[in-house]
Amino acid sequence: MLTDYHMHTILSDGKDEHETIIQAAINKGFDEIGFTDHICHIPVDWRMEPDLIPLMIEKIQTLKHKFRDKINIKFGIEVDFIPGDEQKIADTISQIAVDYVIGSIHYIGNWNYDSDPSKFEDKSIYQLYELYFQTIQESARSGLFDIIGHPDLIKKYGYYPEEDITSLYKDTAAVFKNSNVVIELNTNGKNKACKDFYPALPFLKICHNYGVPITLSSDAHKAKLVGQYFNEAISLLRQTGYQKIAIFNKRKRSFIDLP
Ligand SMILES: [Zn+2]
Ligand SMILES: [Zn+2]
Repeated sequence: MLTDYHMHTILSDGKDEHETIIQAAINKGFDEIGFTDHICHIPVDWRMEPDLIPLMIEKIQTLKHKFRDKINIKFGIEVDFIPGDEQKIADTISQIAVDYVIGSIHYIGNWNYDSDPSKFEDKSIYQLYELYFQTIQESARSGLFDIIGHPDLIKKYGYYPEEDITSLYKDTAAVFKNSNVVIELNTNGKNKACKDFYPALPFLKICHNYGVPITLSSDAHKAKLVGQYFNEAISLLRQTGYQKIAIFNKRKRSFIDLP
């Protein structure tokens, strides 16, 4: 069974409508896909405006039914974790009957490092990585999320510390395991300056060693990118030792064989 659990529509920063994406996924042989438009409590242009939440709910319910004989449509959301805002985030999530919630870190403090690389130059990259991994650990511990999104997004623009970061990877993988979250293998990093999957292979191997489950994600912002680089991603998972991937229904996790 082929799944893709992370994609964006025109309701947030995606370029295509739900139906265009569904048709592309069917043509590519997908059995199950999940929409995950952005929910962020900081007003920013790539988020879905909060007043569009009812429209998102209606669209997904309608399309789930319309395409039920062709493909399983899952209802996900990608929610920004912002330390201190846990209650607000929990309240928002509780209003939406989703299949799963991806928790992501696009902000460090009030810096949207994912959209604005200008500040990397004047910072200690190692300190940034430490702060990033501490925050992502906090997101896992919060219990708000089923899946941790692009677990090393901090490398997106190709800034890597000179120091060894194995201990950051290990500490983070241990927190993921203890917090009972799934991580995603997100293939979209291949299109970015880092030209790498999230997480990087050494981090992926450590997550596997700690017993952290995985799911498969394109993070497509265009219909044609659904399932991008999945052949490579699947063989990488196999080499790493993963045999199962996680799927969700009404926030309950189960596993299927790696395709
Ligand atoms: Zn994201
Ligand atoms: Zn995304």
